[in-house]
Amino acid sequence: MCGIVGYLGTEQAYPILIKGLKRLEYRGYDSSGVALLNEGEIEISKCRGKVSDLEDHLAGKVPEGVVGIGHTRWATHGPPNDINAHPHASGDGTLALIHNGIIENYATIKEELINRGHVFKSDTDTEVLTHLIEDIRTKTGVDLFEAIRLALSEVHGAYAIVVIDKKNPDMMIAAKKSSPLVIGIGGNGEFYVGSDATPIVEYTKNVVYLEDEEVALMDRKSGLKIVTIQNKEKVPYIQELEIKLETLEKGGYDYFMLKEIYEQPRSIIDCFRGRMNLQKGEIRMSGIDDNEEKWINAKRVIIVACGTSWHAGLVAEYLFEDIARLSVEVEYASEFRYRNPIINKDDIVVAISQSGETADTLAAIEMAKKQGAHIFGVCNVVGSTISRTTDSGAYTHAGPEIGVASTKAFTAQVTVLTLMALTVAQKRGTITDARLHRLIAELNSIPDKVTEVLKTNDQVEYISDIYKNATNALYLGRGSSFPVALEGALKLKEISYIHAEGYPAAEMKHGPIALIDEEMPVFVIATHGQSYEKVVSNIQEVKARKGKIIAIVTAGDTAVKGMADHVIEIPKTDETLVPLVSVIPFQLLSYHIAVMRGCNVDQPRNLAKSVTVE
Ligand code: GLU
Repeated sequence: MCGIVGYLGTEQAYPILIKGLKRLEYRGYDSSGVALLNEGEIEISKCRGKVSDLEDHLAGKVPEGVVGIGHTRWATHGPPNDINAHPHASGDGTLALIHNGIIENYATIKEELINRGHVFKSDTDTEVLTHLIEDIRTKTGVDLFEAIRLALSEVHGAYAIVVIDKKNPDMMIAAKKSSPLVIGIGGNGEFYVGSDATPIVEYTKNVVYLEDEEVALMDRKSGLKIVTIQNKEKVPYIQELEIKLETLEKGGYDYFMLKEIYEQPRSIIDCFRGRMNLQKGEIRMSGIDDNEEKWINAKRVIIVACGTSWHAGLVAEYLFEDIARLSVEVEYASEFRYRNPIINKDDIVVAISQSGETADTLAAIEMAKKQGAHIFGVCNVVGSTISRTTDSGAYTHAGPEIGVASTKAFTAQVTVLTLMALTVAQKRGTITDARLHRLIAELNSIPDKVTEVLKTNDQVEYISDIYKNATNALYLGRGSSFPVALEGALKLKEISYIHAEGYPAAEMKHGPIALIDEEMPVFVIATHGQSYEKVVSNIQEVKARKGKIIAIVTAGDTAVKGMADHVIEIPKTDETLVPLVSVIPFQLLSYHIAVMRGCNVDQPRNLAKSVTVE
């Protein structure tokens, strides 16, 4: 998530920071800010909107100073507004800090600090960390570097931070865990910091990639010192950047969509971070915990969504019914809002929308609200309209998604919905402890399994080349693989403009089978599970009509291998969680076919990222 820039040197920092933030814009963000240290004072300027808005805001009164930090924020805690934008100052105003990531235990720390008299200005988890550092420094009298190390040993979660201090104008401190951070070493005691090397590369080629749980002190006089959170000194490993600026933008990927596909192991972790406790075998979701009675007594869940979010909703139908024994209806928001549907007071309406601005979903929410249902939102964008109009909710924390065709937002939605189903099942007593523990452990292993599937990229590219000129494609799956078939077909349509249909495998006989001939690629999810044998029969039906089968199978499968034209193996996982893994090859396939057909992958024709019209 988002961007960090830092500079300590001899030049004016502001232009370096602004240029760096612009280089990091590709990562997506909702607000930006800078803090400059000049003549013993720290000046913080920040606002919601683009870096260019910040520049406009500062036109004519550009902050001065040769030490500074800059940030682009993608809100996770507190809506995107001027106050929540970074940098954040400590209570006594001596420190300014920027942060990328999530401090999971911020609420507990905040409460303790409030009890000790700290006053907070923003809703962010970041400000809590700033105050914690200040608190430790004043309470114990240790220096800033030590105070930061001690503070970070108290926090859980993900962070990349940079701190500047009024009292120490010759230094800048950075640290990281699970969020990236690079330090550039210039001549004359100059230091640069970036979320990646893009803000640095034009000034220096000498960089140190900070490792997790390392704190770095950049000092004009004494140079660079790195210590772990556990207080072990490390010798900085200075590497020479060979990479060119062009390849660094978009994180080195050719398109945002590919970058976002590859971000999924990480975005899934971000999604269950702080919610799932592997050791205790427990899941906590405040939006559900705070409305426990409603969920326990609910008679029905109505999911309203559009497009890819609707597919995530369909996966949730299987999850909620199976695990939480709650009856579920999944509705296209656009149909639901005009249908005069029956909504009862003990219904829970779950609205899913990546942007949180989808017009039809919003209208469906308003209607259900009037009829007294409890509304739960699942959105990616913090502070979005849907997140504000719902009674409760859960953010997907996938980070900004820029490619119009949704990829990581889908897997994050499915992850949140899985966590929801498990939470509700715990509360309703519909899941045994053993199954709950098994599913939590399995969910925890999904990011590694997604990483494994991403290794099929070359094979998928090879298959894409064979079918890139198809005019039609069929996608088949059963159970919760059916919505994945729909999602696979949608991805292909959206970005490669090939007509594609997703079907429940058994429905093929009732119509689409008429389309099958030797030209027709049929993508089938045939992973091990309840309906495996039935899907194998469907594959045989396609082969009997000379259709081409591209099957997604469980690693080690031999039966399908014998009859399919191509198989893509995915690691074995619990049947309930297969959609999180099986959708990946379909995302890669549509990506490669779109590239091969010369399509605009990130901005397909006629489509918009946030559909704010009905
Ligand atoms: N969690 C922090 C916030 O909401 C940082 C978000 C980011 O990575 O930009 O302010």
